[in-house]
Amino acid sequence: MDRSARLVVAALSLSLSACAPLPRVAFHDGALLHLVDDVHLDPAAPRADRERLVALLGEAKAHLQGTFGRLRGYPVRVIVCATDDCRRFFAGPRMRSMLIAPGDRMPGEHDTRGQLTVVLVDAGERALNHLAHELVHVELLSRLGPEAAARIPAWFHEGVAASLSDEPPCPAALVDDPLVESLRTPRAWWDRTNEPGQGVATYCAARARAEAWGVAHHGKQGLLALLDAVKSGEPFPAAFGAPEPAR
Ligand SMILES: [Zn+2]
Repeated sequence: MDRSARLVVAALSLSLSACAPLPRVAFHDGALLHLVDDVHLDPAAPRADRERLVALLGEAKAHLQGTFGRLRGYPVRVIVCATDDCRRFFAGPRMRSMLIAPGDRMPGEHDTRGQLTVVLVDAGERALNHLAHELVHVELLSRLGPEAAARIPAWFHEGVAASLSDEPPCPAALVDDPLVESLRTPRAWWDRTNEPGQGVATYCAARARAEAWGVAHHGKQGLLALLDAVKSGEPFPAAFGAPEPAR
């Protein structure tokens, strides 16, 4: 190809990328407000939330880099709701923030079409925490892959996410309840935390378990080593080990 032909191809590809359609997320008869990348906001959210939420995305990622180093998160769509109408539509009647992985059954009306999607039900003062919590799930899933991620019990995924995001907020004195280790599958976790009065208590018990393990034994490097061990085939109980007895 001669130089002029290459210039034409370059100009054409530039114009094509400039014309690439923005990602659009249908919401009733309209669409969510596209903010940046693949981040979408409830059109009923106050204007002031737009720039703030874009900044929070950067803050949440910077926060998680403190633990994981360079993030390896899969590309993820982020949907932020500010009204119950939006929360029901995207997160279903429970209106809980969630990560919807490809193949997950969706509780809301929205069809993710296999796109890894985070739905945040709080665009307000806890939005950063909700976002960080769900991005921990994205990072764990990305590092492990779906098969290894499923071999780590739900309580540990949730305990790590709650610990690194402070979402949900827990009482200063965490109650370390070993019974939370019976919640191994996402279904069991979802059902227990949907029981009246069990939501925050269960998250905080899982956080206590994860923190007791991390602080007593392993720290950040231990978490990364556990993920590597499980990914390479080690059973979770062996990688996790027995918690150190309380002194
Ligand atoms: Zn979670």
